Amino acid sequence: MKKKCIALVSGGLDSTIAVKAILDQDVEIVALNFITPFCTCTSRASGCSHQATKIAKELDIELMVIYKGLEYVDMIRNPKYGYGRNMNPCVDCRIFMHREAKMLMEETGASFVMTGEVLGQRPMSQRHDTFRIIERDSGLEGLVVRPLSAGLLPPTIPELNGVIDRSRLLDISGRSRKTQISLAEEFGIRDYPCASGGCLLTDAEFAKKLKDLFEHNGSYTLTDVKLLRVGRHFRIDKSTKLILGRKEEENKELVALTRDKGYHIFIPGNFPGPTAVVTGNFADPLEETVVKTMVKYSKLKEGYEADVDYLCGNTLKKKLKVVKGLEGDPPLLKI
Ligand code: SF4
Repeated sequence: MKKKCIALVSGGLDSTIAVKAILDQDVEIVALNFITPFCTCTSRASGCSHQATKIAKELDIELMVIYKGLEYVDMIRNPKYGYGRNMNPCVDCRIFMHREAKMLMEETGASFVMTGEVLGQRPMSQRHDTFRIIERDSGLEGLVVRPLSAGLLPPTIPELNGVIDRSRLLDISGRSRKTQISLAEEFGIRDYPCASGGCLLTDAEFAKKLKDLFEHNGSYTLTDVKLLRVGRHFRIDKSTKLILGRKEEENKELVALTRDKGYHIFIPGNFPGPTAVVTGNFADPLEETVVKTMVKYSKLKEGYEADVDYLCGNTLKKKLKVVKGLEGDPPLLKI
């Protein structure tokens, strides 16, 4: 068996220590990091992928980063093993990642996969039974080494074959990270963001928006999914949704995400207020509802007239006007 493995790394503390523990046994490691539309820390400057890059550089190992797109979102819509507390299908998500790791293992000639998982740390995906399901469904039975909890798990094939020395692996369990933090000090690892994970699927407010998207839009795009991270969302009717920016940064992001894709965009002309984007089957009678909602969430004084540019993609479609406050608030359901 070759002394080469694929390591699933998040850039967090656990996977970093796990990699260090296997590297110390002279195993060649190719790190695999995933970015999803649901990572809470995807900024280039400080996100998980940046951290994974930093760790790979420091430990002198190769890193591959995979962006999980629509195929991953489709899996979330209908997970075989269900959801956790919110819209997080952790078991299916781990199977998805392990399958990718298996493919890379075969491509690179590696002989096993390793992860930073800790037995009992996460209630849904880090248990004896779910570890077995993840290995079975990804076709990696006996080939997933979890160095942090190995002493509490059945021996894997690389341990039985002597490729790695089981006695030098750890036996950590549970949610406390005390042992990992002291090991990090020992190994000189100091900067480890997202130690407890950063996934919007576990967030109750975000989960409501994602559920609403799945219920109302059978042909969503990746842009529809990315828009869930930005602004206030309102349901106008079964097929139409309104999104308002909450600050200048979000106004710009809404335009940047949608301008080249033909969405309906509404930009305040003569007042400071939210930019709006409408998704779905938008019809002209709804324009008034959109503009009234924009002025409701603006700083425009009552009785003043608002000018709004209505664009379809990059093309100016109409210039709209509405007076704030004269006809009451539009009754929209906030998602
Ligand atoms: S928390 Fe999110 S990223 Fe982590 S396993 Fe669950 S669904 Fe996947």
